[in-house]
Amino acid sequence: MRQTEDTYRHKGLRKKLVEGIRSKGISNEKILTAINNIPRHFFLDSAFDEVAYEDRAFPIGEGQTISQPYTVAYQTQLLEINLFEKILEVGTGSAYQACVLAEMGSQVFTIERQKKLYDSNKSFSFLKKYHSIKFFYGDGYEGLPTFAPFDKILITAAAPEIPQKLIDQLKPGGMMVIPVGSGDVQQMMRISKMENGSLKEEVFDHFSFVPMVGGKK
Ligand code: SAH
Repeated sequence: MRQTEDTYRHKGLRKKLVEGIRSKGISNEKILTAINNIPRHFFLDSAFDEVAYEDRAFPIGEGQTISQPYTVAYQTQLLEINLFEKILEVGTGSAYQACVLAEMGSQVFTIERQKKLYDSNKSFSFLKKYHSIKFFYGDGYEGLPTFAPFDKILITAAAPEIPQKLIDQLKPGGMMVIPVGSGDVQQMMRISKMENGSLKEEVFDHFSFVPMVGGKK
């Protein structure tokens, strides 16, 4: 069962979480405001109510997790989001990251390969207020050619390598943020597509994501 009530206790814990993330180096105020605005406990089973505002990943079913808030903030910061950008997210999962992007004024296209997770977001009433998020059931390796190109692409699962089909769906001047690696730990990378189509790769810290898997389930 999901929680639907946002109490003063939850709001207080959320403020502390935001300050914790700030102290770990996230300085973009729009991201911190977004995290402060979104009741993370709504995205989890009520069994996690006591711990929902700890800066940790938690299970959301089907062997998947809601990312750690610091990781969500870190990836979002690397995307350098401007208002009204079109963003493709691979790995909807709990939809928490998608809501952070929507709170920042983005137009979000998010794909999930697991039908059960996709369906559970369809009945998650809190998401109804986010008209700027479009949910898709499909394989993120294929992207969304019909809606391409995107200003930004965010991969929230560990990719063994950079998917060329997704690079092709990036606008010139756009960026992709992706955790790359096939082991337990991946390196966060940012790929920028230059106006002339050439790519610039930057590497950042190490993180641990669930794997990106091809096909639908
Ligand atoms: N962004 C999520 C994090 C979820 S974990 C959140 O905020 O909660 C990663 C998710 O990626 C899982 O739900 C997993 O099923 C999904 N995933 C893995 N490979 C995928 C693929 N090829 N296409 C789409 N989704 C994928």
